[in-house]
Amino acid sequence: MQYLPVCLQLQGTPVVLVGGGTVGTRKARLLLRAGANLTVVSPQISPELEGSLAQHGGIWQQSEYAETDLHGKKLVIAATPSREVNQRVHDDAIALSLPVNVVDDPELCTFIFPAIIDRDPIIIAVSSSGQSPVLARLLRRKIEALVPAAYGRLARFAGRMRTLVKEHIPEEGPRRLFWEQTMESTVAEQVMSGREQAAEQQLRERLRDADSLYRGEVYLIGAGPGDPDLMTFKAARLLQRADVVLYDRLVAPKIVEMARKDAERVYVGKRRAEHALPQVEINQLLLDLALQGKRVARLKGGDPFVFGRGGEEIELLARHKVSFQVVPGITAGSGAACYAGIPLTHRDHAQSVRFVAGYLKNDSVDQNWSSFQSTTETLVFYMGLLGLPMICEQLQAHGRSPETPIALVERATLMEQRVLRGTLATMTEIVRREKPTAPTLIIVGDVVRLHEDLAWFGEA
Ligand code: SAH
Repeated sequence: MQYLPVCLQLQGTPVVLVGGGTVGTRKARLLLRAGANLTVVSPQISPELEGSLAQHGGIWQQSEYAETDLHGKKLVIAATPSREVNQRVHDDAIALSLPVNVVDDPELCTFIFPAIIDRDPIIIAVSSSGQSPVLARLLRRKIEALVPAAYGRLARFAGRMRTLVKEHIPEEGPRRLFWEQTMESTVAEQVMSGREQAAEQQLRERLRDADSLYRGEVYLIGAGPGDPDLMTFKAARLLQRADVVLYDRLVAPKIVEMARKDAERVYVGKRRAEHALPQVEINQLLLDLALQGKRVARLKGGDPFVFGRGGEEIELLARHKVSFQVVPGITAGSGAACYAGIPLTHRDHAQSVRFVAGYLKNDSVDQNWSSFQSTTETLVFYMGLLGLPMICEQLQAHGRSPETPIALVERATLMEQRVLRGTLATMTEIVRREKPTAPTLIIVGDVVRLHEDLAWFGEA
């Protein structure tokens, strides 16, 4: 190991930065964020740097570099465009036994700056020991994606609770176990959702009652329209934590596979009129599993609160005071529109968009058809394949032009995605001929014309 990573306490520490160009400005930003008492030595500096110095009480010493600039300082950074000046700063710092960093010149450094992931107070540093800063930054980006933004808040919360927990559990072993479980529990989730009071209350309960460590919870997770890449980080994280996974037909097998290997998988799928489990039984099953102490992930296609009956599934949980979370997902309307190259709104074509249920009830699509007359509103019909002839008919009967463009997106965002296009007058015939299979989504409005130019995914 060529370098030892350490975290420096810089609050109020005199630090000197020689050079105030773009590179210097970047370093200054970091140093000021860490509370350094910064002096920048440079004949000119960038306007941004001048502003941040003024804001944080730093000093701009408008002059060429001289050895005396290092006197009284604890840390030295050189970022001038001149190798010769940088070398002098380095030599002077060494002579004064000061740690020195010359930006982008590892040979002239006694310390280097890692790439950092900042979840203050949690800081993750990535360094390639000066070998490949680009690789370090790439790695940082990957870690950025893995570490939830709210971990900082969680760490601060744990910091505040530390003494309390220590008083209740004086022995170190059990205390560590308590923290490990707490960090994986609803307490942590509550903190990360911004409900710190509730979290603190639960933490106190957990301290009082060891049994409560094993109380279950439910995650109602929007899994997106199909492409597994469209899951959110939060969805993936909670899915990974679940002991049991409940999923239905709209959830792609690849997504179900993302659950832990040892997690139990239960299919509760719904096909039109063919329910593997009726809704009330799904609601009950969620409750029973949670009461057994299980962490249950309920995967829903798209977004749980868009035609997903998500509300019904958590009502019963709420009544029994089982803790739950709802994770939003990309709804099929959004997924289909983006992957088919049909913007749902567009300054020239549509100023609003309406998500509509298109299913047949008693052989008709139950809608207030006269409210669909606006030609500047995009209509998105979910569950509308069977009702399509009626939808086209009713829209025309209520004043929409037979020429109004309409698209049907079959199996949106999946490799098999297909887009059928026509008009209100022709679409019924096209669908009869092409025989698309569910799930399909119907988009009506002028924006459909843009598909020709904007399509980028799947077969043309
Ligand atoms: N909660 C879901 C919608 C459930 S209703 C969401 O937010 O997307 C089921 C309807 O969603 C289907 O009948 C179909 O119209 C639509 N749908 C879901 N996934 C789809 C997909 N991959 N392609 C096209 N339509 C889809």
